[in-house]
Amino acid sequence: MSDKIIDLRSDTVTKPSPAMRQAMAEAEVGDDVYLEDPTVNRLQSRAAEIFGREAGLFVPSGSMGNLTCIMAQTFRGQEVICEAAGHIYNYEMASMTALGGVLPRLVAAADGILTWDKIAPAIREKVYYRPQTALISLENTHNMAGGTVYPTDVAEEICDRAHEVGIPVHLDGARIFNAAVYLRQDVAAITKKFDSVQFCLSKGLGAPVGSMIVGSRDFIERCRAIRKMLGGGMRQVGVLAGAGLVALEEGPKLLPRDHENAQILAQGLARIPGIQIDPAKVQTNIVIFDVGRTRLAAPQLVKKLDQREVLSGAVDATRIRVVTHRDVGRADCEQAVRVIGEVVGAGY
Ligand SMILES: *Cc1c(COP(=O)(O)O)cnc(C)c1O
Repeated sequence: MSDKIIDLRSDTVTKPSPAMRQAMAEAEVGDDVYLEDPTVNRLQSRAAEIFGREAGLFVPSGSMGNLTCIMAQTFRGQEVICEAAGHIYNYEMASMTALGGVLPRLVAAADGILTWDKIAPAIREKVYYRPQTALISLENTHNMAGGTVYPTDVAEEICDRAHEVGIPVHLDGARIFNAAVYLRQDVAAITKKFDSVQFCLSKGLGAPVGSMIVGSRDFIERCRAIRKMLGGGMRQVGVLAGAGLVALEEGPKLLPRDHENAQILAQGLARIPGIQIDPAKVQTNIVIFDVGRTRLAAPQLVKKLDQREVLSGAVDATRIRVVTHRDVGRADCEQAVRVIGEVVGAGY
């Protein structure tokens, strides 16, 4: 038995590294609502620079980042096209509707990866008496499809064709650095055609709190006002931005290891009788496997794994999701596979 809990529920569970703690303690701060926090200003310009954009904005969460980008590009009564299993539809409290006054228009894709052919029929006819399509939102990597990555040409075709009909495209890039690692391209290259991009510092990059929006200077100024409206104007928040800067500079280098560890999990799980998973479909750090042919329902199995100090999450009655991150190593993943094999094998 390992002597510590192996937490594979999400890549949000990482604790700030010693370098982050030090950056937080030493961060120069000021009032960011007055634009006077030098550490926040540095983080925002650095994010903009990395993404090849004019400006960036620090937001408390990815959910607020997505909502802010949606509100900046829509009017009440309009529609946002998004993938049916997407985060903005399923995990953000219907905020685009409750707070932004817009309706999600869902399009399903088996692997979470939309194409222009799937999107086009969902775009509203341009007549004044029908609700209008204001925005398209893509998710890369796609969380609930198992960390799947948009082929760059597919994402770019969607952006190009949407722009031809006057519709902007938002990227929920919570894990865009994982996509970049998989594609062996930089984040600026794979996001350049999007009108707005949100990415999380608090997922695989390892920061304790925060997300970034990047875009044009005008767009970010609109977002700053909306962020304030949503209660996200923060004061001496350089203490968080300090950790964010470390995450942004150091985090991406650690992601290839997370992807290798996800493969250790996927390949190990594939060898356990009753578990179904195709390791070739695991592209990044998220592994979703099917336990429908074991004697345990997914939520039951998750509980039994909790007792053995391997934490996971049930997606539905038959599927379990595990996520690798900087606070779990290769040995942890090997141990997790052993424990899952034992619990499934015992079958009670
Ligand atoms: C985590 C996540 C977000 C943002 O979540 P917060 O918990 O609000 O930071 C957005 N999109 C995706 C795909 C995510 O996985």
